[in-house]
Amino acid sequence: MLLSIVIPVLNEAQTVPLMLERLRDTLREVAWEAIFVDDGSTDATPEILGRESWRDERVKLLRFSRNFGHQAAVTAGLDFANGDAVVVMDADLQDPPELLPQMLDLFEQGYDIVSPRRNSREGETRFKQWTSKLYYRVLSRMAEQPLTPDVGDFRLFSRRAVLAIRSLREQHRYMRGMVAWLGLKEAMLPFDRQPRAAGQTHYPFLKMLRFAWTGITSFSAFPLRISIGAGCILSGAGFLYLLRVMYLAIWTHALVPGWASVVALQCVFSGMILLALGAIGDYVAKNYEEAKKRPLYVVTEARNVSLAEISLPRAVILAESVPAIACIAIDDTERPVPEVAASISIQPFAGVRA
Ligand code: UDP
Ligand code: MG
Repeated sequence: MLLSIVIPVLNEAQTVPLMLERLRDTLREVAWEAIFVDDGSTDATPEILGRESWRDERVKLLRFSRNFGHQAAVTAGLDFANGDAVVVMDADLQDPPELLPQMLDLFEQGYDIVSPRRNSREGETRFKQWTSKLYYRVLSRMAEQPLTPDVGDFRLFSRRAVLAIRSLREQHRYMRGMVAWLGLKEAMLPFDRQPRAAGQTHYPFLKMLRFAWTGITSFSAFPLRISIGAGCILSGAGFLYLLRVMYLAIWTHALVPGWASVVALQCVFSGMILLALGAIGDYVAKNYEEAKKRPLYVVTEARNVSLAEISLPRAVILAESVPAIACIAIDDTERPVPEVAASISIQPFAGVRA
């Protein structure tokens, strides 16, 4: 049995070595491969991963031409994972590798998806924890398939779950929603989420908000329909108000003092109309982007990954994988020097699959 671990990385030079150390320690009894997807890092992450992939052929590297986003990086990792079971996890050790054996146990019991559920979230602000809880409850009500609350992208997938996810090639990707949509047999595993081992989150508030909105628009048309309900209520109220105005006009002379309420109502209604238009505009824009059917990512470099047999829709592979020839009979003390790795270059343009 082979376990694949998919790790998207963006500027994680400090955490990658710690991550690998913990993986090696935890998975002594298991055959594994770690697929690091470098999502356009600008620090030493690619060099560190290049070096590690020469030392140990279980360490695989896919490098994007630029930052395509966390969800695209997870997609690429899943596309190239060979394992019977595949785990997606962050590089920052917020998701503890020590949980992997328990996840494998559940996988062996026949679950297609094993979802570690966050009991607690150390190192994250109360605000983030509270808004995230609220968000998943709201989204679960809006989406056709309810999402599992308190579960992030840290998950184990069986081979067949991975094949199913690979077939979902939409541009605006929300993995948590896709998993719910698949409806496969899922097991929960409570755990305590740790603070980041080093570095900073790549999801500041506004990016988090955008991601949350992608989740909603990808899996629910509810915001489009809100305006119908709001429109009905408001026009009903407007009609009643009109009756009152007519009554006042005919039977009294007290109309002029009402201008403040007119202005207030005007503001409220225009605001709601603009909001509804904005939501509709966003769905239209996403539709437009989806219609272009652009590739989801561009891979410019690959190490220890076999590219030949894989045919992927909506993916551009401009790299040829460098085989792990330098890894034969290397133990911990005798490792090839990084310069050897650097001297072998990668062939440009092995083909485009789009
Ligand atoms: N990440 C990525 N591309 C991005 C943003 C993040 O590959 O555009 C990686 C990042 O290196 C990390 C994982 O995705 O391994 C999750 O990001 P982060 O830990 O910053 O998010 P948080 O856990 O704070 O929500
Ligand atoms: Mg993280």
